[in-house]
Amino acid sequence: EKKRLRWTNLRDMHELYCAGHLFQAAIAYHRSTGEKELLTTAVRFADHIASVFGPGKRRGTPGHPEIEMALVELYRETRKEEYLELAQFFLDQRGYGLIGGSIVLIDHKPFRQLDEIVGHAVRAIYLCCGATDIFMETGERELYETLEKLWKNMVYKRMYVTGGVGSRHAGEAFGDDYELPNRRAYSETCASVANVMWNWRMLLATGESRFTDIMELALYNAALAGISLNGREYFYVNPLADRGRHRRQRWFGCACCPPNIARLLASVPGMIYSTSDNAIWVHLYVASVARIELKGNEVRITQETEYPWDGRIDVTVEPSKDDEFSLYLRIPGWCRAATVNVNGRKVRKSVKPSTYLEISRVWGTGDRVEIELDMPVTLLKSHPYVLNNNYRVAIKRGPVVYCLEQADNPEYDVWNIAIVPETKFTATYEPELLGGVVVIEGNGIGLDISAWNNKLYAEMDEVQVKAIPVKFKAVPYYAWANRSPGPMIVWIQALGFNTLQGGKKLYKA
Ligand SMILES: [Zn+2]
Repeated sequence: EKKRLRWTNLRDMHELYCAGHLFQAAIAYHRSTGEKELLTTAVRFADHIASVFGPGKRRGTPGHPEIEMALVELYRETRKEEYLELAQFFLDQRGYGLIGGSIVLIDHKPFRQLDEIVGHAVRAIYLCCGATDIFMETGERELYETLEKLWKNMVYKRMYVTGGVGSRHAGEAFGDDYELPNRRAYSETCASVANVMWNWRMLLATGESRFTDIMELALYNAALAGISLNGREYFYVNPLADRGRHRRQRWFGCACCPPNIARLLASVPGMIYSTSDNAIWVHLYVASVARIELKGNEVRITQETEYPWDGRIDVTVEPSKDDEFSLYLRIPGWCRAATVNVNGRKVRKSVKPSTYLEISRVWGTGDRVEIELDMPVTLLKSHPYVLNNNYRVAIKRGPVVYCLEQADNPEYDVWNIAIVPETKFTATYEPELLGGVVVIEGNGIGLDISAWNNKLYAEMDEVQVKAIPVKFKAVPYYAWANRSPGPMIVWIQALGFNTLQGGKKLYKA
């Protein structure tokens, strides 16, 4: 009988964290099935926690945030103010050393005084999720200003090109600004799931497309890499370069990631659309059929598309009765040129990247919107302080980040393949490969480094590396490590580019 130990070690025992997950599960189960039994249990449990913790009762805050967002959701479900207040209480108790005062647990400072995103990545982002939920219910500006500051620090300085976060193995934590190693990346699958969840909330709070961009990025790349194509093996850690030894596992002693990725994938349908007073927002382009309630009108929306492999999306809008409302279409941040037609007629509005394009009209059955998002192969470079990526580029097409994997490039170790300014890319859909993916092929240079032999360092005139023309093939990063083990790399060597001049070539390779 360990009853006397209950609530005595909030730092390590995850009681509040597990309670939060139970609440969320109960709410989701209730919403999707109508069953109340689990929700009743969750409410009883929440009432118990509220009888122990709160103003004038016991102080405390969870070692692992999670219950904050769950309590806000339980408040939304039950309208019991007490749950919202308890969520605020747990947030406000943090930062006063009640759980030891460490940076890893984000207990070193009160939340509203944080000016950079630090600590255990999943904890930090779950905390931000909870704070965003509280902001959505209370409208507290100070809270939002902190969230905005933390988001900018993360997205501009501490996030992988895949949307993965938490670069350090030590403490599973965020690193310093620009500390983004590739081979030693931690980038826990749960942290990517959390990144999707937080950006979804920031999007709902603001309607701003920059949040959807990061949500989509983390979803298609860092998070999706967490699960094998057969759905049976998982990554906990997601490096961006490997020698072929990092493989997905069937389970983990600390098994947070497998159910988290399952939960995320199950929740994707709920992130495609949202509604506001007189509008339907289209956040994600996914071949799908949805029925959306808007002002008592049921609007059926069908998306026909091969996205993310192709930028063409045909949307059919079928309201149960003709009605005037707005459709907000997301123009992704990665898309520099987009055209939108309604019933064959071009929309005469400027279409800018990372915005929502509003189409306001009377919608009737069979109205059709055609969206064409230009989706070329692009090369990305990094801020120069990301030392690992200097003179390297990553391949991206649409929202999908690519990697070179040995299985597709048998002739050359992919770590020795370089892209040059003359490299021409082709994008081809291969239905039989990796469950159906667009591959990107190009001609680059293979570097024969055999002269390095046993040397680790050499003077500049020693060790001649031979360059040989090669063809290479890149596959989506999320699909890596599903075939025979071998080297993989996201940030590929780039030779002959002058990155000082905006990527323009100033001399011959
Ligand atoms: Zn995890």
